[in-house]
Amino acid sequence: MVKFIDHCCDGIRQLRPYEAGKPISQIEREFGLTDVIKLASNENPLGPSPKALAAMRAELDGIALYPDGNAFALKQALAAKHGVGTDRITVGSGSDHLLELVARAFLGPGRSAVISRYAFAIYAIVTQGASAELKVAAANPPAHPTQPYGHDLEAILALIDATTRVVFIANPNNPTGTWLGRAALERFIARVPPTVLVLVDEAYVEYVEQPEYPDCSRWLDRFPNLVVTRTFSKAYGLAGVRVGYALASAEVTDLINRVRLAFNPNALGQAGAVAALDDAAHLRATLELNRAGMAQLAAGFDRLGLPRIPSVCNFHTVDVGRPGREVFDALLRQGVIVRPVDNYGLATHLRISVGRPEHNDRLLAALGKVLGKALGRDAGAGG
Ligand SMILES: *Cc1c(COP(=O)(O)O)cnc(C)c1O
Repeated sequence: MVKFIDHCCDGIRQLRPYEAGKPISQIEREFGLTDVIKLASNENPLGPSPKALAAMRAELDGIALYPDGNAFALKQALAAKHGVGTDRITVGSGSDHLLELVARAFLGPGRSAVISRYAFAIYAIVTQGASAELKVAAANPPAHPTQPYGHDLEAILALIDATTRVVFIANPNNPTGTWLGRAALERFIARVPPTVLVLVDEAYVEYVEQPEYPDCSRWLDRFPNLVVTRTFSKAYGLAGVRVGYALASAEVTDLINRVRLAFNPNALGQAGAVAALDDAAHLRATLELNRAGMAQLAAGFDRLGLPRIPSVCNFHTVDVGRPGREVFDALLRQGVIVRPVDNYGLATHLRISVGRPEHNDRLLAALGKVLGKALGRDAGAGG
């Protein structure tokens, strides 16, 4: 009998698959529940822009035809948004796809990528999937005054060597919600050897309100080794149709595009994304709802006495003080899906996305019940 594991690529043998947020339908089926809510994948509780929905419905009529492989309309819209030529834009099926394309184009056996501990899990998967070596830098300590568990740029720099081709930086990072300021990130990129790509993943850029937070897409002219990725899955509410993109120098863009198969993203995604970019009011409403939801959840976690990592995103990562996986399981039984993060080495934390106000209340009540704590001043008195 052939054992295929002996024949598959080195990196893939060691690869741990991505643990996605559980779908609502699965939990309803498994636990015989109805009315399950999902606060597990940092999706937009408002959904996409009505303009995006209308554009996708209209697109359905043409669905027998392949999409525009060069995504003309989407690239035009993105070029206008960022003030760059379309020769600097690569579109794909979610920004995960772009991460994979960068790994395919630049990593491989004998090469390495550097990430921070607690960095978004996909970086490890695409690196190992390319059979390259993954170097993991120590993160800020839990007692760090402003960015506990955040990226330590000095530690990342120290791991770059002659084999390194890519450094993945999540700004802000998921699952920690931590972020890097303009001066520190700019200095860092300037110190990375020009032969090493710095990929800055800005999946949550729309949510960040800190004045010191940099929009790295402005630095593309200065740093030919910079790649910035963005997504329509988070603030734009289009996770289900998978649209993301990368901005980079024309040369890097050409190389990434060589490994991209022609018809990504799909036709609905392309149409939805173009229309979503044209709805500033929906994005504003999304950010307002998120601001209120982040505060609502933070106040609830404070009342429950649960410390959290300071987050600038649309989720909180809270320390529930006992194995997070057990609390996650107990919450599933209450019909609330959150995200355990023990796979990141955060064994007592849970990552909880902002939902609609009534969903946030339901999560807080369920969490209080599961932890045996009452919400409110008489904490500890109730069951
Ligand atoms: C959600 C997320 C992404 C990308 O998601 P796509 O749906 O593939 O665009 C990328 N990076 C981080 C840090 C994320 O949290």
